[in-house]
Amino acid sequence: MTAYLDNSATTKPCKECTDAVCRMLSENWGNPSSLHNLGIHAMKEIVTARTVIADSLGADKEEIIFTSGATEANNIAVFGAAKAKKRLGNRIVTTAIEHESVLQSAQELEKQGFEVIYLKPDKFGNISENQIIEAVNSSTILVSIMYINNEVGSILPVRSIQRAVKKANAPALIHIDCVQAYGKIPINAKKLGADLISISAHKVHGPKGIGALYINKSANLTNQNFARVFGGEQERKIRPGTENAPLIAGFAAAVKNIDLSSVQKQKIKELNAYAKSRLSEIKGLTFNSGENASDYIINVYVPTFMRSQTILQELSANYGIFVSNGSACAKGKKSHVLTAMNLDNEILDKSIRISFCRNNTKEDIDLLADALKDLIKKHPRS
Ligand code: PMP
Repeated sequence: MTAYLDNSATTKPCKECTDAVCRMLSENWGNPSSLHNLGIHAMKEIVTARTVIADSLGADKEEIIFTSGATEANNIAVFGAAKAKKRLGNRIVTTAIEHESVLQSAQELEKQGFEVIYLKPDKFGNISENQIIEAVNSSTILVSIMYINNEVGSILPVRSIQRAVKKANAPALIHIDCVQAYGKIPINAKKLGADLISISAHKVHGPKGIGALYINKSANLTNQNFARVFGGEQERKIRPGTENAPLIAGFAAAVKNIDLSSVQKQKIKELNAYAKSRLSEIKGLTFNSGENASDYIINVYVPTFMRSQTILQELSANYGIFVSNGSACAKGKKSHVLTAMNLDNEILDKSIRISFCRNNTKEDIDLLADALKDLIKKHPRS
């Protein structure tokens, strides 16, 4: 028996997704830019997929650019916004717990002379509305804040960004990294007041290597500002290169399968509560995720002498359980999220992230809880 509990790193592609990818590769493989029938047929699939993704965000299809994933979408958004608005101000507001693709883009812009404010979270990874309001001033040109943190699941007050920008009369664009929220809670670009939204297919049972950036039409942003790669006319010249039609079709197939029903919401809520109650049986285990975090992510400190990397390798090798130590992209480096939360070194070294998807069951949780108990018994904290 195995239990896959690392769904914030990636999810298993659903059958509809793999079918769509295979169908495109074997039957609909034309270049979408070709003017003959094969090209037209492939382009049709992209147009349909773009509409599916746009609908899922309450957007128009002209507002969706396909990218190689959210890392690229975040890079285009942050650098694009800075370039588009640099004559109007110098300040960028973000948080210390963003994904590396936002953080490192912001750090690069800092080197280029921008002032970047990294809002600090509390000990559960929460950022308050007030912090955002206080940080945004009239020279702020970009506010880039994630919706749900990928390591601890904290839900950030992204709806307040628009209020903060209006209050300060700032020329800022609003970028929201919705990777961990998309497919889990309803996201409506207009209601969020976002100019830019990043999403990734492989977190919603789609393929890896494909994502999308929503660019609000009324923000009037052009490829002059937002292009990071130069080439053909594809993706409105913002992200040129022959479109990855198979992955785009797979992305749309997965999105059609997203379940935002109250039944699904309740199922994950119950799974989360069950996990917390089973994990609480473990003496000395503490929760790094707060009470109000997303039900999909639980980050815990494991009381053992082993470091998190060894814990997860043991769980994988000896118990068939797959979890992670924070972000998969960070590959074993100390978590910048837990560090920003000001947690002790002991916790930084020995925490793991458990993350769910619609396929998980209580049996997965039982497997994990029993394995952790066994592991701690064998390797106590000393
Ligand atoms: N943002 C967040 C919040 C993420 O969790 C991830 C994936 N770990 C990314 C961005 C990057 O997405 P991708 O893997 O598609 O590049």
